[in-house]
Amino acid sequence: MDELIEKIRDPMLRAQAEKVAAFHGYLSPGALVGIQMFNIARKMLNLSSCERIFVTSETCNCLPDPFQVLAKATVGNKGLKIEDLGKMAVTINKVGLAGCRTQAVRIVLDPAKTKRFPRLHAWFMKSCKVSHDEVVSILLEAGESVYTWEAFELEVPERPRKKIAICEGCGESFIQMESEPLCKTCLEPSNNREPSPSNNPSLEDLLCPRS
Ligand SMILES: [Zn+2]
Repeated sequence: MDELIEKIRDPMLRAQAEKVAAFHGYLSPGALVGIQMFNIARKMLNLSSCERIFVTSETCNCLPDPFQVLAKATVGNKGLKIEDLGKMAVTINKVGLAGCRTQAVRIVLDPAKTKRFPRLHAWFMKSCKVSHDEVVSILLEAGESVYTWEAFELEVPERPRKKIAICEGCGESFIQMESEPLCKTCLEPSNNREPSPSNNPSLEDLLCPRS
């Protein structure tokens, strides 16, 4: 995999791949997809090198990490939101004043376009096993040609005032939305701490995640 990174001719893309590989563990296909999406967004939104952005990733697999390490849009600084819809798609928007409109772009890895690269398409559709190295090589060759994006404007929401309350059920403090007396854990029995089997990754996912 390191050899693959060394072969990347564009020095900026190579430096990005090195940073992401160090952060993510290795350059997975999904992490490379995230890098390529970030670069499309930089162009579409005319972003300066250290401009703050907001990112909504539609999958929790690999894709969010390049934005955390390259754009400093992290879960903790609220630059990154994950809506796990199981889609290789991301929406990026510029910072704007609450109530004002700001530029955004939604980018998807487009199955109608990956079809032109049968092995990449097979990996994307999980129809057969394709090695990560092979997928990374194809993605590098395909570049932007496998993505579809749409620019639009969105309204920056007002930031709600944080109100802290003590839960009448468990006695712990929590961020209160309205004037509900119970925290979310006590309000919804499904929020108990039992691990859900469906959330546990399979051995296959651990050894060889799709992206
Ligand atoms: Zn509680």
